Amino acid sequence: MFYIVATPIGNLGDCTQRAIEVLKSVDLIACEDTRHTKILLAHYGIKTPTTSFFQHNRFTKGDYLVGLLKEGKDIALVSDAGTPGILDPGYNLINLAIKNGLEMTFIPGPAAFVNALVLSGKPCHEFYFAGFLPNRTGARKNQLEKLKQLGCTLVFYESCHRILASLEDINTVFGDKEITVARELTKKFEEVLRASSKNIQEKLAQSKPRGEFVIVI
Ligand code: SAM
Repeated sequence: MFYIVATPIGNLGDCTQRAIEVLKSVDLIACEDTRHTKILLAHYGIKTPTTSFFQHNRFTKGDYLVGLLKEGKDIALVSDAGTPGILDPGYNLINLAIKNGLEMTFIPGPAAFVNALVLSGKPCHEFYFAGFLPNRTGARKNQLEKLKQLGCTLVFYESCHRILASLEDINTVFGDKEITVARELTKKFEEVLRASSKNIQEKLAQSKPRGEFVIVI
């Protein structure tokens, strides 16, 4: 069986009982970064062998893992944080397993955009998850203009390196609209800011922005 297993997005306590049982019982765990996942495995006393499955080995390693699944091995797929496939290479392995007609199941758990969406208090019945915004300001503003036409709640992932620049462009496109910026969700320094993009940008610029971010408009 191929198990797609969601793991915590920061707080190690957020691993479900079923995820722990599956990670203990499978033959092999395919991890985005084995060093990162070993912290979680050590926390729960899980000694299952691990192997890496990431952006740059996804084709060769994908074929290898599918081969093992076809031999009847049980494999779990985890990403560094949250739900495999949500903005990480896990998607490629899931797709390959489907093309090979393999049986699979998903052990649900955290995904950062869900926490941010819920904490934003904005309408959750209709939303668009747009992943990461483009790196360059021109492309970013174009993308924001396009997404604005959707007229529903918009959710983006952002890194600490680009958060200030993205907030600048959000301000250009959306003006004074109240947005939510959620930082370090489930972790010790979790912070949820609800204000205009300009105000949030000013607040974050007071010190070097740190951590991982989700933006909800
Ligand atoms: N698979 C993950 C998920 O289910 O949410 C997302 C992986 S994506 C490569 C990484 C991005 O997710 C980060 O840059 C950040 O925007 C967001 N993220 C992950 N963990 C987060 C957290 N604890 N707080 C805020 N954002 C987080």
